[in-house]
Amino acid sequence: MSERHPLVERDRKVAWHPYTQHGADPEPMPVASARGARLTLADGREILDAVSSWWSILHGHAQPELIAAMETQARTLDHVMFGGSTHEPAVALAEELLAVAPADLTKVFWSDNGSTAVEIALKMAYHTHLHAGEGRRTVFVALEGAYHGDTFGAMAVGDPVPFFEPYAPFLFEVVHVPPTAEAVRAALAEHADRLCAFVAEPLVQGAAGMVMHDEEVLRAGREGCDAAGAFFIADEVMTGFGRTGSLFACDQAGVAPDLLCLAKGLTGGLLPLAVTLATERIYGSFYSEDRTRFFPHGHTWTAHAIGCAVARASLRLTLDNDVPARMRSIGERIEANLSELRDDPRVRELRRRGGVVALELHPQRAGGEGYMADLVPGLRRRAIEEGVLLRPLGNVLYALPPACTSEAECDEIARVMTVLVREL
Ligand code: PMP
Repeated sequence: MSERHPLVERDRKVAWHPYTQHGADPEPMPVASARGARLTLADGREILDAVSSWWSILHGHAQPELIAAMETQARTLDHVMFGGSTHEPAVALAEELLAVAPADLTKVFWSDNGSTAVEIALKMAYHTHLHAGEGRRTVFVALEGAYHGDTFGAMAVGDPVPFFEPYAPFLFEVVHVPPTAEAVRAALAEHADRLCAFVAEPLVQGAAGMVMHDEEVLRAGREGCDAAGAFFIADEVMTGFGRTGSLFACDQAGVAPDLLCLAKGLTGGLLPLAVTLATERIYGSFYSEDRTRFFPHGHTWTAHAIGCAVARASLRLTLDNDVPARMRSIGERIEANLSELRDDPRVRELRRRGGVVALELHPQRAGGEGYMADLVPGLRRRAIEEGVLLRPLGNVLYALPPACTSEAECDEIARVMTVLVREL
């Protein structure tokens, strides 16, 4: 037994970690610093961050231009409440985001994490129907396996299994359908009269285990919403900013959502910031001389100036460095390295979209299926021992590294994934 690090000892006394069973999970890994694709642990070891720290770190850790933007902005204007005031970083960010976002989106509403970005979209969608005298539209259609965050609205549109069943009495009506065009089409038609919105993580459903669907699902969603007079909400919290090989996943389907949720990579992962982009129709439904008709929502750090400045710098890097193309080549390299595992009896499927590569293991080899698979803590520990931070989603081992990851680092990530499979 190695001795417990003093930081872990102190952590045990005071810290409650997210998505952690403190009675069973391994102890947290003390991290001292991070740069590029690497984390340096407290004992001096370096490991590769193959999951971009919960899919947030876009360009790499400690990206100098992002840090410079943060420092400059902090010295100029740190934060001012966005209720009743405005500032250059927010307005410029909105202009720049809207210039590259799917068509029809004309307004930006800020928050500070993915769950709230979704929460805002759900409220805007329903409230717009209400303004139109269509308060009966209370049904949402979402995908099976969906994950949209941990606040109540976001939990409601998420799949209740495996996380949210305890909160069922508080969750509103949502119809979950398999991620196929036929199922989406049928559900949107069936509920057309009471449909509020269709909500989806376009192309890659992250927490479900990097489950991938084709563009037709999104087109069916768009057409079904148009026919029903409902809204299409795209949750690109994970897929945004090049992860799937295009700036936004919706772009690949040629689909323009009515509401677009972005977080994680928005600031390159450096600071917490989120946005919900809306169409003029949605914004316009709140626009009135009647002061009570406004959107009753706002967070302390709405449009945080430092966050906005960093997001502008991150967007510039994303476009200048062609991050979507970088993600594609990173994903292709890792996938090529893993290709001989395709026929391995332990592997059910190897799949990829852009820079997201997933190896789905056979459940009987992974100690079960889904997030709670028994093997997960052991796989995580072995990966770290081998020098790579992986965080399997149940029986799905995946990589989603930052854009700075070198070819040699991609090879290293694939090597460790292969070791883990071969040890099963
Ligand atoms: N939507 C998606 C698709 C996500 O992957 C996540 C987080 N993993 C969220 C929403 C919630 O984001 P946050 O954790 O920032 O609240």
